[in-house]
Amino acid sequence: MYFIMKYKICSKCKKEKPTTNEFFSKSKSQSDGLYSYCKDCQNERYKKYYADKKEHHQNRRKKYYKQNKEQQINYSKEYQKNHPERTKQIKKRHSIKRSEYIKARVKKWIAANPIHNRLIRQRVRLSGINYDSLTLNELIEIYNLHKTDNDLYICHYCHKALEFSETTIDHIIPISKGGSNSADNITIACLKCNAKKGDRILK
Ligand SMILES: [Zn+2]
Ligand SMILES: [Zn+2]
Repeated sequence: MYFIMKYKICSKCKKEKPTTNEFFSKSKSQSDGLYSYCKDCQNERYKKYYADKKEHHQNRRKKYYKQNKEQQINYSKEYQKNHPERTKQIKKRHSIKRSEYIKARVKKWIAANPIHNRLIRQRVRLSGINYDSLTLNELIEIYNLHKTDNDLYICHYCHKALEFSETTIDHIIPISKGGSNSADNITIACLKCNAKKGDRILK
């Protein structure tokens, strides 16, 4: 008995493919009993359909959150206006909680990195940075930003790789030129660049 392979052109990709279940799904509504799209195109179509649907749901959810958020904000504004004393208390409690949380985090970090931390502290004192405008965590972040894979630190100016002990903390815009002690004005420099720079503004 012969088996003659028949072919059908997919109405989507226009490729000719065998009329077997491997390439076309069955469809009762079609005269030849096979879906007009090949299976690849059908899958693509499903994928797109579900992706669109997902996006639609996500957008709706986002919109809902946003509306609710506005409502919440309005509600709490109204509450704050009507209960000034209570609001003051709550705010105070929150700020205490927050500073306790930060202290706890710093403490935890100190416990984990005692030497590094002590050295950074020393360096902060030497460079005359005050702790209020630059937290230890921020400074650690600055150090991490300049850290190489082999535990060296890159000088912001000459890009030389330095041992931790060779690094200094530098104000990008010197304090004398109106620079601040905040994190975005603090960087790591080698001693040479730091000394050479003095009170000038380099890049
Ligand atoms: Zn196709
Ligand atoms: Zn340098």
